[in-house]
Amino acid sequence: MPKKSSAEVDIFGLLTDTAEKKKKKRREELLKPLGVKEFFVEGSIDIDKKTCHGVECKICIEKCPTNALYWKAGEVGIVKDLCVYCGACVLCCMVDDCIKVRRKRETGEEERFSKPRDVAILIQNINAKRRLERIQEVFPTPEEYCRRYRKKKKPMHKRD
Ligand code: SF4
Ligand code: SF4
Repeated sequence: MPKKSSAEVDIFGLLTDTAEKKKKKRREELLKPLGVKEFFVEGSIDIDKKTCHGVECKICIEKCPTNALYWKAGEVGIVKDLCVYCGACVLCCMVDDCIKVRRKRETGEEERFSKPRDVAILIQNINAKRRLERIQEVFPTPEEYCRRYRKKKKPMHKRD
């Protein structure tokens, strides 16, 4: 099989870049009027149509803050460009593993969840992390405390 030239690889890279930029712009345009902020750089959402209770339920459609979910021809449809991967639909879904969400943070950290319990634990962990960060700000470690508040020694000639 002939090897790809570097020019071919670059063209492929450029096309991917352009498609990504277009997608980002489209999402921004759709989300801006809703006043919804994006916290994740990337993600995906899938609904298992076989296990979904559909017409008897539709709770996820009601709870989605961006209207990314809608009812179409007897099943839940997804406007993927409107999904911000918040997890509200998973949290309220009555069927475990019916909605699967994957999301990536700016730090590269990836989170996956498909059960209300997963979302609850994730929220708890995020809140605990934030609390710890705030506590560390207010109550620094002894070393940090000394560094922040240690009085500067007066030079010998200025001492009383
Ligand atoms: S993850 Fe959030 S934004 Fe995406 S479909 Fe579910 S509720 Fe809507
Ligand atoms: S909440 Fe779950 S079971 Fe109910 S309609 Fe949405 S995906 Fe289906």
